[in-house]
Amino acid sequence: MAAMSTAVTWRRDLHAHPEVGFTEFRTASRAAGRLADLGWDIRTGTDAIDPAARLGPPDDDVLEAAFTAAAGDGSWAGDERFLGAMRGGLTAVVATLDTGRPGRHVALRADTDALPITESAEPGHPPTAAGFRSTREGAMHACGHDGHVGMAVELAERLTAAPPDGRVTILFQPAEEGGRGAAAMVPAGVVDDVDVLLAAHLGIGLHSGAVAAAVDGLLANTKYRATFHGRAAHAAMAPHEGRSALLAAAAATLAVHTAPPFPGHETRVAVGALHGGTVSNIVPDRATVLLETRADDGAVNDEVGSRVRAALEGAAATYGCTVDVEPIGSVTTATGDPSVSEAVARAAREGGVDVVVPTADLGVASDDATAFMRRVQSHGGVATYLAIGSDLAGPHHTPGFDVDEAVLGPGVDLLERAVRALTAR
Ligand SMILES: [Zn+2]
Ligand SMILES: [Zn+2]
Repeated sequence: MAAMSTAVTWRRDLHAHPEVGFTEFRTASRAAGRLADLGWDIRTGTDAIDPAARLGPPDDDVLEAAFTAAAGDGSWAGDERFLGAMRGGLTAVVATLDTGRPGRHVALRADTDALPITESAEPGHPPTAAGFRSTREGAMHACGHDGHVGMAVELAERLTAAPPDGRVTILFQPAEEGGRGAAAMVPAGVVDDVDVLLAAHLGIGLHSGAVAAAVDGLLANTKYRATFHGRAAHAAMAPHEGRSALLAAAAATLAVHTAPPFPGHETRVAVGALHGGTVSNIVPDRATVLLETRADDGAVNDEVGSRVRAALEGAAATYGCTVDVEPIGSVTTATGDPSVSEAVARAAREGGVDVVVPTADLGVASDDATAFMRRVQSHGGVATYLAIGSDLAGPHHTPGFDVDEAVLGPGVDLLERAVRALTAR
């Protein structure tokens, strides 16, 4: 049997060691270490991410526990050369190869985070069968980001062995899920001198063997945490003295769905969680609702968001409560540039890709790579969001998800061809 490629080896290792948003200490430090060993210039910590610009980072004790695991020995150990700068959840890495030759600066985004999902233990689930199922219960690479990092590391190896023109940067981005990482890397200036930005995602509706050179339908998306404050009281002896935060939150859960449709636009409102109260005979003084809005236009998403806020505040007032509404994630829309997607499509055809889709419709998904795309475009650069097809063992974000490893090698081929073509002009 032939040796496994770097992309497959890395992705299996990362799959077994998943780290959720802003806790990617092992993943990020090991990627930084590998590219540093290849001679790439590495920026991490506050040189790669603005700590204050992170929306919804985990609590300090969660961050510290994940850091401690990566700082220890054994299979969870990170690369100690880079861990220190990442402490506290500064898990972004910007790795650059400057060939010294004239050419453009091309950047590839590789997102690094896993999801808070417990992976399937079914014997037929491929990672279980092949022995690389998640070893951290409650965390799983269920979106393919393990494959993104694996492909990026193999790409770096190939570009080091045979350098292209110009400069190449790989953006190892934390916390894509929830739309939190890219927007915090942008203010650190990491794409300010990038001419061409590529973001690539595995799967997302395309079968193995297909490539989409651009995608349409990346929605704007804002996630909120609404915390209701009431007043506790004995539920039977003094209910009139209480103000139920839980009733306010329950009413708000229904009320946010009164946001109207906007003709000509796709919009969504969803409540994903409601937590409140402690026992049956105390009026709950605190409740929390997690919700999100999406729209195919940033301004429409903002308008849906303001309707949702009004509904939350109205429900709070009805029950004599107050509510704090805090954005914990935000993704904007972006549109790619034909000059880049045409170059990617050409690279795909030259590389013998079976099915090359000029532009795929993503439906109603979101990806915060749009923050990088917009920043690059704002200073005259160009960008595309491409999809590398993969048959999936189960849908994205579910316990049975897995990518088709057979697409990783051809995926690196495609990225390598595209990078060589795009740096050269
Ligand atoms: Zn995802
Ligand atoms: Zn994803």
